[in-house]
Amino acid sequence: MENIRDNLEEVRKNIKIACEKVNRNPNDVTLIAVTKTIDDAIVNESLKYDITDIGENKPQEVQRKFDLITKKVKWHLIGHLQRNKVKYIIDKVDLIHSVDSERLAMEINNRALGIGKVMDILIQLNISNEETKFGIDRDALDTLLLSISNMANIRVRGLMTMAPYLENPEDTRWIFKKMKEIFEDLKDNEYNNIQMDYLSMGMTNDYMIAIEEGANLIRIGTGIYGERDYSK
Ligand SMILES: *Cc1c(COP(=O)(O)O)cnc(C)c1O
Repeated sequence: MENIRDNLEEVRKNIKIACEKVNRNPNDVTLIAVTKTIDDAIVNESLKYDITDIGENKPQEVQRKFDLITKKVKWHLIGHLQRNKVKYIIDKVDLIHSVDSERLAMEINNRALGIGKVMDILIQLNISNEETKFGIDRDALDTLLLSISNMANIRVRGLMTMAPYLENPEDTRWIFKKMKEIFEDLKDNEYNNIQMDYLSMGMTNDYMIAIEEGANLIRIGTGIYGERDYSK
């Protein structure tokens, strides 16, 4: 546990450093602790250190963990979401980061309607067109936003991207820059269910660069909990 506390301290120090570099307020950056593969007891312990938001990449894991996590936190679904899994998480998560098709959006809208909820989502973009399988191209974004604008039980709150893992995180800077540009362009949109509040980008390897370029939601797993053990 002590190393998790130290890791968190380090991450928060780095957030501050990155913010200072570009004159941003560190309070504008929300840290999402990515708890995938991490033991429930360890997650519960770690939440004592002022963690307010957690992220899971698998719907089944959200479902399994939901009642085991004792602290009231915001839940983020950050990984790829299949349509047939939406029903398991619709009542549990606060923000879905990974919407990348009209069909998925329609399913979320229908399920949200069914439980009387307006679901906050982000659109996942694929900027680099390599490695990452998920997310849509910039070219497809306007069409998707237009169709979502007719879905009353969805509110688009911003954009998400996952940069490829590169040895030198500086090499991903252009991706974050591009994201910020698109994010700013979309702020003056005419749709009332599309409101550009969140720019979700930056993981353990590249979050300082992402923050410098404007990220306000960062998703950190390894940097808090250490290397994941996928064999469990
Ligand atoms: C696992 C994961 C993260 C966290 O990755 P780390 O490199 O461990 O910080 C962030 N975002 C998504 C979508 C993930 O699946």
